Amino acid sequence: MTLFEKQKEFFLSGKTHSLSLRKAALTRLYKAVSLYEDRLSDALYQDLGKSAFESYETEIGLILSEIRYTLHHLKRWAQPKSVPTSIVNFPGKSTIYPQPKGVVLIISPWNYPVLLLLSPLIAAIAAGNCACLKPSELAPHTSAVLGEMIRSFFSPKYISVCQGDERVSARLLTLPFDHIFFTGSPRVGKIVMEAAAKTLTPVTLELGGKSPCIVEETADLSLSAKRILWGKIVNAGQTCVAPDYLLVQDTVKDKLLTEMKKVLFAMYGNNPAEHPDYPKIINERHFHRLCRLITGTILCGGQIDQKNLKIAPTLLDHITLDDPSMKEEIFGPLLPVLTFSRLEEAIEIIRRFESPLALYLFTQSKEVKLRILKEISFGGGCINDTIMHLANENLPFGGVGASGMGAYHGKCGFDQFTHYKSVLEKGLFYDNHLRYPPYKYKLLPL
Ligand code: NAD
Repeated sequence: MTLFEKQKEFFLSGKTHSLSLRKAALTRLYKAVSLYEDRLSDALYQDLGKSAFESYETEIGLILSEIRYTLHHLKRWAQPKSVPTSIVNFPGKSTIYPQPKGVVLIISPWNYPVLLLLSPLIAAIAAGNCACLKPSELAPHTSAVLGEMIRSFFSPKYISVCQGDERVSARLLTLPFDHIFFTGSPRVGKIVMEAAAKTLTPVTLELGGKSPCIVEETADLSLSAKRILWGKIVNAGQTCVAPDYLLVQDTVKDKLLTEMKKVLFAMYGNNPAEHPDYPKIINERHFHRLCRLITGTILCGGQIDQKNLKIAPTLLDHITLDDPSMKEEIFGPLLPVLTFSRLEEAIEIIRRFESPLALYLFTQSKEVKLRILKEISFGGGCINDTIMHLANENLPFGGVGASGMGAYHGKCGFDQFTHYKSVLEKGLFYDNHLRYPPYKYKLLPL
């Protein structure tokens, strides 16, 4: 019997449906992450050069908080819900039963290797599923620790881990999973969806794209500078929702850029690439890819350290849509700066790209805010901040169009891994004869 068959068999035993087992599993996961915190943090340092603080702030701490939140709400989410019954169904009652989907596959990327593997797992467990995890081969230290942690806390027939590269993913994608939750690039997202079509497996695709950051002239410029730069340089820009490019109104451009230079200096000094807290680029391929995107005028940053794979946060001015940094998702610490004079110019530029995963708008104008919200399609985002929308479990997190389909976090994650079974239960004491043939004369007015 293959591991996949064992997982299917275990799911069909019904054990994972029990609310107490789900809660116990989440509590066990909480313990596992707490016990492995130092090892995960060391592994994240080896793979991405993340400081212990950043690893906790952006990965481990978020996982622990999500488990606590899920445990708090799970009973209510998992309960069958009564809904009103229409008069044609009198006498009867209608109920929606949340059902686990079965054995689910979770494929994750390398950039937040702990968060993006375990966050969907929390939702999958909460909804009562068995799961097969496929961490990224490009964050090998973290993937190894995660694999060891899961194996020592969970039976593989409940939660399994398959390590390896795209060949392993490709094999997994031939199996008839009951749901596939994929986080990664739009290119691989298409491969996943094509494979899933063969078995009619539902998918959640958490993808990427070019997320714009607009600074309009009424914005609080010093706070904007801080919040934009934090969002750009956390994980050295290797964040799916990092502001990808800046669109600043020409009237405030010089002031904003002066503020940004000050902020960068205050955060990382003269040479951020040498700062021990500043993360590295994941591998040489991405390092060289990013170096090729540096064009235009370097306003600040630009230092590179090939030996340690570090690239300083770099602001690029005099960029046009023909520059290489505007031709692909940057996924690194480079921020091209474009200007606009009227808001419609900014809207027109954003609309040239596929719907982004995130959009950030810095403004104090209600009119500008409403216009951007109404006229631009994007997955999610913030007004006057960056990235922080994903730290609210009450906000569904996901893309739209080319940046993904489906969303998760909190109850929304539970929903991804749940089938809502709708059931009408009919009473027996009355039966309306109108629906049965013969129909002759039944449409005549009374
Ligand atoms: P990727 O698509 O290259 O890889 C993601 C996963 O897919 C890995 O586990 C990898 O082994 C597997 N994979 C790679 N090629 C495959 C193939 N041909 N067939 C099947 N599986 C394959 O993505 P990445 O480089 O790890 O991550 C970067 C991308 O992920 C960026 O586009 C970024 O925006 C996106 N991302 C999105 C989110 C989100 O929440 N929406 C979060 C993080 C990253």
